Amino acid sequence: IMSKETLIKSIREIPDFPIPGILFYDVTTLFKDPWCLQELSNIMFDMYKDKGITKVVGIESRGFIMGPILATRLNAGFVPIRKPGKLPAETLEESYDKEYGKDTVQIHKDAIDENDIILLHDDLLATGGTMKAACALVKKLKPKKVYVNFIVELKDLNGISMFGDDVEVESVLSL
Ligand code: IMP
Repeated sequence: IMSKETLIKSIREIPDFPIPGILFYDVTTLFKDPWCLQELSNIMFDMYKDKGITKVVGIESRGFIMGPILATRLNAGFVPIRKPGKLPAETLEESYDKEYGKDTVQIHKDAIDENDIILLHDDLLATGGTMKAACALVKKLKPKKVYVNFIVELKDLNGISMFGDDVEVESVLSL
C-alpha cells in the first residue's frame, strides 16, 4: 500500500498555467503511473463501496477519468456533466460566476431519477464554484442522496464552505 504522501508527490506542479500567477496541479502525472492509478482507484472504492451508489456523475473533462473507473468498481452507472452544446438530448442547465464572466454546465434530463444515490466526482476542488453548480444541477433531478468527491482539495481556498450539510464532501488528498 502506497502512502498518500507518495500520491501527492506524483502530482506535477505547473507555475503560471493557464495564466500568469496560477499554480496548476497536473493530475495526469498521477494517472500515468500504474501503481498510483491503482491505489487511487482502491482508496476511492473503499470510501464509497458501502454507500449504495447507483450512479457516478463526472464533470467535464477531468472528472471523466476516475469517474468511470470508479463506476465500474461500484457496479454503478456513469453520467457526464458537460459544457453547453455537447449533450445531444434534452438537458437541464445551471450557470455560475467565474473570476471572469459566467460558465454553464448541463446534464441530460433523464440521466438521474428519484431512486438514485449519486456520487459526484471531479479531479480538483479550488473555489468550489464548478462543483456547487454541478450539485445544484443534480439536485434538480431529485436523487435520494448526493455524495461529492475530489481527488485533490486545495485547502486554503476553502471551497468546502460552498456546500451545505445535505451533501457529504470528501477528498482523497489535501494540498
Ligand atoms: P473551482 O470551480 O474554482 O473549484 O475550480 C475547479 C475546476 O477547475 C475543476 O473542474 C478543476 O478541474 C479545474 N481546476 C482548477 N484548478 C485546477 C488545477 O490546479 N488543476 C487541475 N484542475 C483545476
